[in-house]
Amino acid sequence: MSRTTLQNCGRCGLCLSACPVYKVLKEEHASPRARLKLIQAYKNKTLPTSPVLQELVSKCLMCGRCAAMCPSGINHYGKFMEMRREMAAAHGDKIEIRSLVFMLAREYRLRAAAGVARIGRGLLPASFQKKSRLGNIPLDRFPRFPGKPLRETLPEEIPPQGTERGTVVYFTGCATNHLFADTGHASVRVLTAMGYRVRIPEGQTCCALPMLFHGAADQAGNSIQTNIQALGAAEDDPILVDCATCGAALKKEYPLLCDTLHLDSDVVAGIAARVSHITPFVLDHMDELDFPAADTALKVTSHTPCHRKHGFGGEDVVARLLKQTPGVDYRPAPDAEECCGGGGTFFYEYPEISKKMVDKKVASARTTGADIWVTDCPVCRINLAGNLDGESSMRVIHPLELIDMQLGRS
Ligand code: SF4
Ligand code: SF4
Repeated sequence: MSRTTLQNCGRCGLCLSACPVYKVLKEEHASPRARLKLIQAYKNKTLPTSPVLQELVSKCLMCGRCAAMCPSGINHYGKFMEMRREMAAAHGDKIEIRSLVFMLAREYRLRAAAGVARIGRGLLPASFQKKSRLGNIPLDRFPRFPGKPLRETLPEEIPPQGTERGTVVYFTGCATNHLFADTGHASVRVLTAMGYRVRIPEGQTCCALPMLFHGAADQAGNSIQTNIQALGAAEDDPILVDCATCGAALKKEYPLLCDTLHLDSDVVAGIAARVSHITPFVLDHMDELDFPAADTALKVTSHTPCHRKHGFGGEDVVARLLKQTPGVDYRPAPDAEECCGGGGTFFYEYPEISKKMVDKKVASARTTGADIWVTDCPVCRINLAGNLDGESSMRVIHPLELIDMQLGRS
């Protein structure tokens, strides 16, 4: 870690105004500036490692807003990531987080855990599910695991409909494969309707970013190697992700880890260059889709994931996509780009802080009168849908599911 860079902080405070956690807690120790100061003191050996220091560093959504705002060009994200690794090595992590990392680190464990969760959920009484919470989310509002993972319900290669325009490789990540198979099926239908052959390489697994966020570099390394092997063999075709976090992992994090994990930097750079998010890809090819005439318009609002805006993707293409989709009455929410408080496992680890953020988002989305709320991040989707009240008829879906609906294919 470069001390010089950390010392570049001019204490201007601009990052405080960007930080969702600071905006809720309004305490200096919860600010990006303070986290940097603590990391600097730890590096200078004037502050010993401790569980309190670990908590102060980890009470962060890893949203990237502070780095985007910083006039000194400090890479907060990289500093926090490295510090999390050091803290996890020194103190370990909570048992639930260690269990999550253990499960994410191997595909067969993910599959088994999803199966157990699906069966267990069916056995729990409805009253218990209503009362119990996973972080800030009542259990009965947590999404249901599908009967089979997405990749087990599709062939490895799906041919296009009509004239063939090319081939795309679909990286499904763990959330779409094990939890949101509906997103995966919709994405395949839309891509094949556009004339693309869709390859879903066997052997892919979790992108590993959730493990890296918890400092579990060794476990993450195994998943990264697995994905490189699965994707590296897939020639030059574009690699599409439906999750901004997966995109950030493949495009930005893997290249940074080449030395640490002894990865072939040429292969990793080749993969990174091929990665695109599916939403802008579809936006660029909208004229290849044949939408039926719509008598009525769906009222739709959107939420921009932090990793879309500050990690991978930049401009909010979802808004542009919605404006161009026939039969959609796009109703932007004033705070569409504010963080929802999901942040990987943040909604579970810091439910009180997360709840304050997501309640504001829900109230604001309601003012739009929308029936559908779209977002292209699985954790944002879980957090937003999980915090709508039970009476709400609003649905939270991925933008590709909306496109698929409007094509009249679902
Ligand atoms: S990454 Fe986000 S939550 Fe973390 S310190 Fe920066 S702005 Fe705050
Ligand atoms: S924006 Fe950058 S320079 Fe300003 S206080 Fe935050 S970290 Fe320091």
